[in-house]
Amino acid sequence: MSKHSFEPPRPSHTKIVATVGPACDTKQQLADLLLAGVDVFRINMAHGKPADQEPRLARIRAVSEETGYPVAVLADMAGPKIRLGKLPTDELTLDAGDTVCFVRGAEAVGQEPEGQARSEGSAEHTVHYLTTNYAPLVDELQPSDRVMLADGTVSLEVEAVSDNAARCRVVQPGLIRSRQGVNLPGVKLSAPALGPEDRENAVWAARAGIDFIGLSFVRSPQEVRALKGLLAEHGSAAQVIAKIEKPEAVERLEEIVEATDGVMVARGDLGVEIDIARVAVEQKRIIAECNRRRKPVIVATQMLDSMQHSRSPTRAEVADVANAILDGTDACMLSGETAIGRYPRQAVEMMHRIALATEPLCREGPRAGLPDLKGQDIIPITEATVFAAGRMAEELEARLVVVASATGSTALSMAKNRHWVPTVGVSDSPETLRRICLYWGMIPLAGAPTVESEALLEHVTAWARSRGMLCSGDRIVLVAGTGLKVTAHNMIVVHELE
Ligand code: PEP
Repeated sequence: MSKHSFEPPRPSHTKIVATVGPACDTKQQLADLLLAGVDVFRINMAHGKPADQEPRLARIRAVSEETGYPVAVLADMAGPKIRLGKLPTDELTLDAGDTVCFVRGAEAVGQEPEGQARSEGSAEHTVHYLTTNYAPLVDELQPSDRVMLADGTVSLEVEAVSDNAARCRVVQPGLIRSRQGVNLPGVKLSAPALGPEDRENAVWAARAGIDFIGLSFVRSPQEVRALKGLLAEHGSAAQVIAKIEKPEAVERLEEIVEATDGVMVARGDLGVEIDIARVAVEQKRIIAECNRRRKPVIVATQMLDSMQHSRSPTRAEVADVANAILDGTDACMLSGETAIGRYPRQAVEMMHRIALATEPLCREGPRAGLPDLKGQDIIPITEATVFAAGRMAEELEARLVVVASATGSTALSMAKNRHWVPTVGVSDSPETLRRICLYWGMIPLAGAPTVESEALLEHVTAWARSRGMLCSGDRIVLVAGTGLKVTAHNMIVVHELE
C-alpha cells in the first residue's frame, strides 16, 4: 500500500456521457449515475419538448448542487431525422420483391393523416403504402436512390416517382415498426440541419444555460456557424457538438471540425448512411482529426448495448469501449443503456471500469510532441506553457497539476496534451466548470480563488489533502498567468509541500 489513499472523484481520464430517459429520471437515479462516474448528461430533444426537458434539467442541476459534483448537460437537437408514420399494425414484414409506396402524408412534419399506411396485393407480391414525417420526401427521391429502414437492416430501391408517390422495391427484407427512422444514404435532402423546431429548441437551450448543443445530421461548416450565431444572438456561450453521421460530414470533416467546438461520432446513423463496414475506420479518422485540432470528441451509440437487458456486456462491447479509448477519444457515450435500459447504473460503472483497465495501455504509447501552434484556436504561448507543465509534472513525479481557466480553453489545451498526472481545473465561472466536465482527464473544482496564485495553491492543496490526494513532500504544478498578457497562461509554479 502506498502512503496515498488517492481516490479522486473522477479517477478515469475518459469522460462518460449518459443519456437521460425514463430509466434514470428521478433525482436518486441521477445522483446514482453521477456518483458512478457520469460527467455529462445528454437530453435528447427528439424525445421531449422544452416543457418536458425543463424539469429534467432542474433535477440534474439540483443533484449536482446537492452532491457537489459539477456535471454538464448536452442537449441533442433532433435535426432532420425522417421517421415512418404509423403502420397499420405494430410490426410489418417487408418481403423481398414487395413494393413500398411512399405517399404524400402530413402537411406538417410530425403529423400523418389517418389511414395512409396500408398494405394490399396478391399472396406473392404485396404493395405497402407508407407515410413519413418528412413532407418533401416524394419530391426529393429519384429512381435508383436507396432507402434504409429499421436501422439499416431493411433496404429499398426507388423504382419510379410520380406526383404523389415514390414507388420502391424491397431489396433487403425485414421487419419494420411505426415511427422508425428512415435513412437516405447519398440523397441530397433540402432540409437544413437546424429546422424551425430545432431552432426553437436551441433558443430554449441557450436561455436555460445548457452547456453543449448537439447538431444532428450536419453536412457543412456553415450549419455549425449558423447554430453558433443563433446561440450568440441569445447570449449563450454553449458549445456546439457536431454529430458526424452523414456522408457529406465525413467528406467535409476537416472543415466541420475546424468550425465546431466538439464532435460526436454518431455511429447509429453513420452506420446506415455510410457502409457499416467503414464505421471503425471513420471513427479513428474523426478522433485523430479532433485530437489534431484540439477539439473534444465523443464516441457514441451501442457501446454497451446489450446492457439494456443484461447485467454484463458482451466481450465485443468491452473491446469496443477500450478501442475507442485507445483510439484517443475524450468521452464515451451511453444511450439506451441509461435512458431506457434495466441496468443504467451498472452500465456507467462498467464503462468506468473499462476506462480504468484500458488507460494504462494508452500511457505506454508514443508521446506526442508539442502540437503545431499555427492555426489553432488556442494562444500559442498558452499551448506551449501547458505542454511544458504537463511534461514537467511527469518528470518531477508531481501528484497534482492545477490549471486556472476563465473560459475553459486552457483546460481543453491541457486535456489535449494528455499528460497523466491528475489535473484539477479551477474557474470562477460555473459555466466553465461544467464545460470542463467533458475534457479528458480534467477534474473541475468549484470555489477556488483564481486570481492570486498563492491563495489558489493553498486552496487546492487543502482540498487535495482532505481527500488523501496529497501529503508532505509531494509536488504540485500550477499553470497560471503573470497578468502581463491578460489572455495568456505564461507561468508555471512548482511547489513541494512541507
Ligand atoms: C447516433 O445516430 O448515433 C446518435 C447518437 O444520434 P441519435 O441518438 O440522435 O440518433
